[in-house]
Amino acid sequence: MRTLVYTHEACLAHDPGGYHPESPERLRAILAALSAPEFAALERRAAPRADLAAIARVHPGDFAERLLAAVPRSGQIALDADTVLSPGSGEAALRAAGAAIAAVDAVIAGEAKNAFCAVRPPGHHAEPSRAMGFCLFNNIAIAAQHARWVYGLARVAVVDFDVHHGNGTQAAFEDDASLLYASTHQSPLYPGTGAASETGVGNILNVPLAPMSGSREFRRAFEDAILPALDRFRPELLLISAGFDAHRDDPLAQLMLVEADYAWVTGELLAVAGRYALGRVVSSLEGGYDLAALAASAAAHLGKLMAA
Ligand SMILES: [Zn+2]
Repeated sequence: MRTLVYTHEACLAHDPGGYHPESPERLRAILAALSAPEFAALERRAAPRADLAAIARVHPGDFAERLLAAVPRSGQIALDADTVLSPGSGEAALRAAGAAIAAVDAVIAGEAKNAFCAVRPPGHHAEPSRAMGFCLFNNIAIAAQHARWVYGLARVAVVDFDVHHGNGTQAAFEDDASLLYASTHQSPLYPGTGAASETGVGNILNVPLAPMSGSREFRRAFEDAILPALDRFRPELLLISAGFDAHRDDPLAQLMLVEADYAWVTGELLAVAGRYALGRVVSSLEGGYDLAALAASAAAHLGKLMAA
C-alpha cells in the first residue's frame, strides 16, 4: 500500500531570518531528495489548514487566535530568542498542523498505510500555552488528540527521535494515560527537560543520551526501553516526531547517528505498528539542520515507509 507525503508551499514562506538554522532551505532540500526516481511512487498531497478547534485540543483557549493575530504584516517579530514570526508564519503553522491531521485522516480511512509530513515550522517544543524552540503549534500532539477525539482511538503513541527533547509534547501528554510519549535525545542540550525521572502518569519514557553517543547507544535505547514500552502500550496509531538533528553532521548537537540508523529505527517502528496499529504510521518533520544530512536521512526514513 502507498505512502503519502503531505506538504505545502506555504511552509516555505515561514521566514525566521537569514541566519536562522530553521530555514526554508531545509524543506527545499527534502523535497529535492524526494524528487529522485526511487520516490516516484509517493503520493503527494497539499496540506490543508488545521481547524482552530483541532489546535485547541492541545493549545487551549485563544492561543491559536492570539498567535495568528501576532503575525506581522512585514518584517519579523521574535517570540523568544529562537522563535520568530514572519508574514508567512501563520499560514505555514496552520498547514504544518493541518498536514498531520490530514495524514491521520488518510491512514485511518485506509487510503494509505503511512504518511510523512514534509512541513515547517516544527512542533515538538510548542507547549500548550507557549510557542518556543522554533515551534509554533505542536503538530504531532494535535494529530494525536485528533485521532483520540475524532476516531476514538484508545491508545496513541508518539515516538520522538529528534536530538532535542520534545518538552511540548511531553507537557501536552503527561496527565493522559491514553497517550504515550517516548523520546531519545541528547542531554545536556536545549530545552533541558527530558530526564529519565520525568514519567508523567507512567506514559512518558525519556531516554537521554550523552554527547557523542552514536548508533550503538541509540539502538540500545530502542531495543532495551522504547520498543518494549511500545509493546506493552499496544498503540492503535503510531506517530513519529521525525527530527534528523541527531545526525553526526548536524551543527546544533553532538550525537553521531548516520542515515542507516534512521532507516533502522523506522523499520522497528513500522514493525510495532504492524503488530498493534494495522500498520498505521504518521511521521512529521521536526529538526535537522545540516541540509545534506537532513535530505539523506529523510530519504532513508521515506524509503522504509514506502517498503512497509
Ligand atoms: Zn531538534
